[in-house]
Amino acid sequence: MVKTETRHAQKGRSSRQSQRPSRRPLRHTQGSSKQTPSKGALRFIPLGGLEEVGRNMSVFEYENEILIIDMGLQFPEDDTPGIDYIIPNVTSLIPRKKDIRGIIITHGHYDHIGAIPYLIDTLGGDIPIYTTDLTKEIIKRRQDDFPRAPKLKIVTVKDGDVVKISQHIDVEFFDITHTIPDAIAAVIKTPIGNIAYCTDLKINYDIKGTPDQKDIDTFKKIGSRHIHTLFLESTGAEKAGKSVSEDLVKQNIDSLFAKAQGRLIVGLFASLLTRVSDIVELAQKHDRKIFLSGFSLKTNVQIAQNLGYIKAKKGTILPIEEMHKYKDDKILVLSTGAQGEPNASLMRIANGEHKYVEIKRGDTIIFSSSVIPGNERPIQILKDNLTRSGARVYQTEHIDVHSSGHGPAEDLKTVMSLVQPTFLIPIHGWYFMRAANVRLAAEAGIPEHNSFLVDNGQVVHMYPDKILVTQETVPAFYVMVDGLGVGDVEEVVMRDRLALAQEGMMVVIVTLDRRTGRFIKNPDIISRGFILLKENKELVEDVRKRIRGIIGKIPRLQSVESDYLKSMIRDQIGTFVYNKTKRRPMILPVVIEV
Ligand SMILES: [Zn+2]
Ligand SMILES: [Zn+2]
Repeated sequence: MVKTETRHAQKGRSSRQSQRPSRRPLRHTQGSSKQTPSKGALRFIPLGGLEEVGRNMSVFEYENEILIIDMGLQFPEDDTPGIDYIIPNVTSLIPRKKDIRGIIITHGHYDHIGAIPYLIDTLGGDIPIYTTDLTKEIIKRRQDDFPRAPKLKIVTVKDGDVVKISQHIDVEFFDITHTIPDAIAAVIKTPIGNIAYCTDLKINYDIKGTPDQKDIDTFKKIGSRHIHTLFLESTGAEKAGKSVSEDLVKQNIDSLFAKAQGRLIVGLFASLLTRVSDIVELAQKHDRKIFLSGFSLKTNVQIAQNLGYIKAKKGTILPIEEMHKYKDDKILVLSTGAQGEPNASLMRIANGEHKYVEIKRGDTIIFSSSVIPGNERPIQILKDNLTRSGARVYQTEHIDVHSSGHGPAEDLKTVMSLVQPTFLIPIHGWYFMRAANVRLAAEAGIPEHNSFLVDNGQVVHMYPDKILVTQETVPAFYVMVDGLGVGDVEEVVMRDRLALAQEGMMVVIVTLDRRTGRFIKNPDIISRGFILLKENKELVEDVRKRIRGIIGKIPRLQSVESDYLKSMIRDQIGTFVYNKTKRRPMILPVVIEV
């Protein structure tokens, strides 16, 4: 069904209008109280995933019915040292807890499920979570790591199911292709129209490049639901062409397996379960035993095996402790850490720190994963160390041994032309990725003025014949998880960590007589990451002199107010050091009174 005639140009509002000069302040959107009247509108509020890759979370709201899609986390950035994860900000949902009718989880990757243990208690542990079998097991297994987290109410759904979420909202589910089995797209049926929510996806091609009929049928079927707005992922939008055929990847890995004389080591993501399943099949074909290295890989493979997504004959997957019993040409090690992650298994193997695997001449290593931008350097080091130890390393640059889970331009265009929505809201990805998706949409027949680039926290009103990106915003700034604490890492802490990392620190230890407030000994000065004290004796002496000056100004016989003294030292020594060195180390005063 072609619905071009129902498309309406948006008066005075185009995707360009939501453009802003800088991204930084936006990520810290505090939220404005300016409520826009929303009678008859479906409200869409992205809480994450629209100005980054990760922490995906979308909120749809009709009257007092709220539906959430995905609750993911984001891995830390360079400017957030010491942070484990970044999660979506749910401040705006807390007063509306009772209105949340359901959560849909599209697939089992951490950028879609990862924030559940941190947020579910805040939002209400009894909210039904709708997801597929495999995703359910992965969510449950992860929840086990959080002993105090509530038991979840998970409702499993499958391709073709239609679920009534609330009075005005029904959702129909569709199987889509990604790098983990059991990934779904959702068509949300609302009074303003049907919304297609298509997260991470790609199209499967055979070796000749013909798309899989199953994928084509799926998006045709979604299109037959008369889609008002398509929400489509954008991660691969800037990449030209179509997805590398998984069959080709499998064929290439197969030929490398056939060629390998010694041991085989394949590095990949623990969440790349579709690939793992192919590799298990190939290992069996080449009569090799599989040894898993990496905790997350072991858990995921076990879950996928239990559910039948990975079919391994008994005795194919063996504990790594038993590896020594087998000849080299019977061994295949599957390992995590192909991104050069410092603590992952492959890095330990490369550094000679692995308990069971030591690289030797004749080993073949295949990195079956894409290089995440920013990880180029650690991967080079990893490759270097592995090669130095005598292994031969293969990566996608030499031969296609990986296909991304995020469809590039042609895949996205195929989806758009099959679904034929009136409007498009690109999701998942930085502004430039989403903007690229808008350009693709124009090629696929969706006029640019019908595509909308929305920022995290920005409220969108959707009406039967139009979309309005309002001025209303909700808080969408980062919530950081440090260890097991959520959101307790404030900006101040972040600034301190940055200062420590970039400028180092200087500790000033002042020992005073409690009664007189006078020095008992000369101030001690310790510096880390700032200057070498030995080479800067003059500066150190000057700092000491200044400290004595500060103390000297405190009237005699008056006991010392240590907080006051500390802030005096911090300010004055800080300024002094800056004037001398043009650097701002963290000044840490320690006042000891005896
Ligand atoms: Zn994914
Ligand atoms: Zn994702």
